[in-house]
Amino acid sequence: MVVSNIFEYRKFHMEQFWQAGLPDAEFECNCILEQVAGMPWHRIQEISLDQLQEMQRMTERRISGEPLQYILGEWEFYGMKFFVGRGVLIPRPDTECLIDLVSEKFRNLRNLKILDLCTGSGCIALVLKKIFPDADVIGIDLSPDALAYAVKNKAYHALDVKFLQGNVMDSCLPENFDVFDLIISNPPYLTSQEMQILQTEVSHEPEMALHGGVDGLNFYRGITRIWKSKLKSRGLLLYEIGEQQGAAVSEILQMQDFENVKITQDLAHRDRIVSGNKI
Ligand code: GLN
Repeated sequence: MVVSNIFEYRKFHMEQFWQAGLPDAEFECNCILEQVAGMPWHRIQEISLDQLQEMQRMTERRISGEPLQYILGEWEFYGMKFFVGRGVLIPRPDTECLIDLVSEKFRNLRNLKILDLCTGSGCIALVLKKIFPDADVIGIDLSPDALAYAVKNKAYHALDVKFLQGNVMDSCLPENFDVFDLIISNPPYLTSQEMQILQTEVSHEPEMALHGGVDGLNFYRGITRIWKSKLKSRGLLLYEIGEQQGAAVSEILQMQDFENVKITQDLAHRDRIVSGNKI
């Protein structure tokens, strides 16, 4: 059976979104419709009963608070598609400014050695490999679930990044690696208090990708201390941070003798990056 009054169905789903108080009803409904039909929604001529049922299931998941990105199973980061789902942090637009900063700082440099700690979906590592095709890029994460997505994303983009499972807070782990020009990380950085008041959607994401200890700073302290020896002289350590963490993370780098310690803001003018060079 084929149903052709797309506009009516779109409206029907949008109304469910509105009633559930979801603010981006039209955008999200279009995303779901496009995913189900496999084409831009304004080009859809007809939709099957199976597709309609699929759409209703997705709408119900969304209304129950699951993030749209998990329901679609994919999301865009820096113009590239990434597979995502339960067990992996969803790439955020905030993180794109890390890529901008690295592209600018390392422009024209060849054969870079790059390490991405807490790589999650692999979005940072894979985008950097795309921008610097001759770089050696390694991504490490503790979560096998997250790494499964990283590996799938790597295969999809046919990019030669090495993804490894490991605990970046384990002081012995660096022994297995040579030195890097850049160590980059978007570690878990929410405080215990912030974890208590997560937005419904964020509460579906893995705690281990979000929670950075009581004050949110555990990973900055640990990674800076443990991985410093794996940066080349003048190498760059670059962290995504929460907007309130600029001063504290800068201090962690300064205490470990990093120089040029700097806070950079994202497009919304919130502090988003702390970076510093190893002396
Ligand atoms: N930026 C994320 C958030 O606010 C947190 C990601 C992280 O802890 N690395 O939900």
